[in-house]
Amino acid sequence: MIENDIDLQPHNTLAISAHSAFFARVETLEQLREALAFARDRSLPILPLGGGSNIVLTGDYPGLVIQVDLRGFSIRSDNSGHILEAAAGENWHRIVMATVQGELGGLENLALIPGKIGAAPIQNIGAYGVELCDRFVSLQAMEIASGELRNFAAKDCSFSYRDSVFKGKLRDKYIITQVNLCLPKKWQAHIDYPALSQYVAGQNWNVDRLTPSQVAQAVIDIRNSKLPLPDKIPNAGSFFKNPIVDTHSYLNLKAEHPDLVAFAAGDCWKLAAGWLIDRAGWRGVRRDAVGVHELQALVLVNPGRGAGAEVTRLAEDIAEDVHAKFGVSLEPEPRYYP
Ligand SMILES: Cc1cc2nc3c(=O)[nH]c(=O)nc-3n(C[C@H](O)[C@H](O)[C@H](O)COP(=O)(O)OP(=O)(O)OC[C@H]3O[C@@H](n4cnc5c(N)ncnc54)[C@H](O)[C@@H]3O)c2cc1C
Repeated sequence: MIENDIDLQPHNTLAISAHSAFFARVETLEQLREALAFARDRSLPILPLGGGSNIVLTGDYPGLVIQVDLRGFSIRSDNSGHILEAAAGENWHRIVMATVQGELGGLENLALIPGKIGAAPIQNIGAYGVELCDRFVSLQAMEIASGELRNFAAKDCSFSYRDSVFKGKLRDKYIITQVNLCLPKKWQAHIDYPALSQYVAGQNWNVDRLTPSQVAQAVIDIRNSKLPLPDKIPNAGSFFKNPIVDTHSYLNLKAEHPDLVAFAAGDCWKLAAGWLIDRAGWRGVRRDAVGVHELQALVLVNPGRGAGAEVTRLAEDIAEDVHAKFGVSLEPEPRYYP
C-alpha cells in the first residue's frame, strides 16, 4: 500500500515536480489508520492530500503523503433542511452538480472550485459571495497522533475568510474524513456579487424564478471566461488572499487611487489583491517557466512546469513590489510544502 519515491507532479495543479519519500492512497478509515501508524513508527511528517489545487511544493517531501480517497455521499431531508454527508475524497464540483441537478440550492455559487470536499473546510472555500461555513454543519476527522475519530461542529472550526482552526491551532493535527452540510429548504439565489448580477442581467431569465442550475451555469461560465483550467495552464487559483485593512488605510488608498477595488468587510475593508497586482504592472508578466496570468493578475501560472522555488520567488517579488507601491502586505493563499 505504501509506495516509495513518488513524483507528485500529477498530484498538484501547479504541475510542480517534487518527490515524496513515501506515498499512500487510502480508500478506507482502516487504511488511513495503517498509514498513520506507518508514519508514526518512522517519525515521518504527514501531508494529507486532496486534489493538490491549493499547495506549492517547494522541494522534495521527506515524509508520507496520504492521498485521501474515501468515497461516497448521501443527501436526506429533515426539519432543518437537506443534509448532505460526504466522504472526504469526493470531488467538490461533482457534489455541487449533484445537488443542483436535484434542484437543491445552496452550493451553486461554489461551482467549479477544484479539489476534494475534505479540503474545503481547511481554508473555508468561498466564491461569489458564499463560503463553505454558510452551509457547514459538522465534520469528522482522524487525529494524526492517535488514529482516533473526532467530530467537529461549526463552532469548533473557527471559520473566517479563507481560514479555519485547521490552518491555525490544529494545523497538522487531523485528517478530515467526512464533511456534513445543510442546504436550505427555502432557497434564495445569491447573485449580489457584481460579476454574477451582470451575467444574470444579460440572460433572458426570469430573475424572480431563478433555479440553482441557472446560477451554477452562470458561475461556471464566468469562471471559465477568466480563470485558466489547471490541466491546460497549471495554476493554484488565486495565489494571494485579499488583504484586509482598516478604514483609515482604505480611505488613504482610495484618495490616492480612486478606482481601487475594495469591499466592506465588517468594520474593515477587503482590498482586491488582483487589482493591486495588476496596477503594480504584473499582469501577463512571464519569467522563465512561470508567470502571472494575462486575464487575472491574482493567478500565478506555471506553463513551463518550473520548480516550486520559481513560483515562490515570483510570489515574493510581487508581494514586495505591491508593499512598496501601496503599503499593503499580501499573504499567499496556498500552503507551501515542505
Ligand atoms: C483554478 C483554481 C480555482 C480556485 N478557485 C477557488 C475559489 O474560488 N475559492 C476557494 O476558496 N479556493 C479556490 N481554489 C483553491 C482550491 O481549489 C481550494 O482550496 C480547494 O478546497 C483545495 O482542495 P484540494 O483537494 O485540491 O486540496 P489540496 O490542495 O490537496 O490541499 C490543500 C490543503 O488542505 C490539506 N488537506 C487536503 N485534504 C485534507 C484532508 N482530508 N484532511 C486534512 N487536511 C487536508 C492539505 O494538506 C493542504 O494543506 C482554486 C484553485 C484552483 C486551481
